[in-house]
Amino acid sequence: MYSTKAYAAASADAKLASTTIPRRTPTDQDVQIDILFCGICHSDIHQARDEWHESMPTVYPCVPGHEIVGRVSKIGSGVTKFAVGDIVGVGCMVAADHACPICAEGFEQFSPGTSFTYNSPDKHETAPVTYGGYSDSIVVEEQAVLKVPGNLDLAGAAPLLCAGITTYSPLKRNNVGPGKKVGIVGLGGLGHMGVKLAHAMGAHVSVFSRTPSKQEDATRLGADEVIISTDANEMAKHVGSFDMILDTVSADHDVNAYLNLVGRGGNMTLVGVPSKPLAISSLSLIFGNKSLSGSMIGGFAETQEMLDFCGKHNITSDVEVIAIQQINEAYERVLKSDVKYRFSIDMASLKSE
Ligand code: NAP
Ligand code: ZN
Repeated sequence: MYSTKAYAAASADAKLASTTIPRRTPTDQDVQIDILFCGICHSDIHQARDEWHESMPTVYPCVPGHEIVGRVSKIGSGVTKFAVGDIVGVGCMVAADHACPICAEGFEQFSPGTSFTYNSPDKHETAPVTYGGYSDSIVVEEQAVLKVPGNLDLAGAAPLLCAGITTYSPLKRNNVGPGKKVGIVGLGGLGHMGVKLAHAMGAHVSVFSRTPSKQEDATRLGADEVIISTDANEMAKHVGSFDMILDTVSADHDVNAYLNLVGRGGNMTLVGVPSKPLAISSLSLIFGNKSLSGSMIGGFAETQEMLDFCGKHNITSDVEVIAIQQINEAYERVLKSDVKYRFSIDMASLKSE
């Protein structure tokens, strides 16, 4: 065991502060990584503040962070895919059993044997729960480590590990591509990745945003049109016209307004996780044989596929790079949708703590 610097929340209403946490000495199958950048996902805020108490209560101290890019600093004797010095990524999972039928199908995120990157029981028992990427280094099972394409900017690549895969997976599952009209609801961290990915897949992309000032950015990111979601007349023009709508909104909102815009047989997928249940109008769904789905991140193989896709199309997240000392201010700005479009923490800043 060794100790490493980190930023943690001590309770639901505490600001994140500097601390030290234990990490296990790498086993034969482990990769130790010096963390270079870690994105700030809205899930980090939900979890640090215990906003999902009923389904996933937060264990404190809580060290969030699951959009990790770093450099391999040590490998166990059984590690074959990575060498010291490699640039790698770690997303929302740090271990899986790799043996059960769910893992065999590539859906490790739904396997009971999977450990998530933070606030998940630590099967190695180094600590009560796993601690995430707001830290100097992390030890991860080799099978949970991903290769980051060499052409990608590292600060911008970090958010691919959650925001990237969470949007790539449902777009892919719904065969988004040329000739398809896709709507992305909410132009935040996930939303702006959804726009870039759907555009690269060749679809017609519409962005739904409450925020007119994001219009120019949306176009630059690859949107073919921007629909201001608070303008009922604008919304009415698109009734029944979408093949798929991907909803990334983090707060309570009217899902039916978007279901009405889905065409016959089309799909709306929710990836945002508001803390309260959403009300669904059956009529908006049944009139048109529409389906409403959810989607949670992606398995290891699909996450690697997404990284390779981003390497090929030179896609990274638009990031504002910050020092870890700015984390509490950054959380407040995410809540106000005041970030273009993801914060990426430069972990070198933690060394001065
Ligand atoms: P984010 O950067 O804060 O973006 C959320 C966007 O939603 C905002 O930019 C805003 O877009 C819109 N929005 C916020 N409040 C709203 C409100 N009251 N009404 C309508 N629209 C609102 O968050 P994120 O990191 O992209 O995460 C989004 C959600 O996905 C979070 O709940 C997060 O926990 C969840 N998530 C899920 C998964 C998964 O596997 N399913 C993975 C990662 C994250 P506009 O200003 O453009 O309207
Ligand atoms: Zn996330």
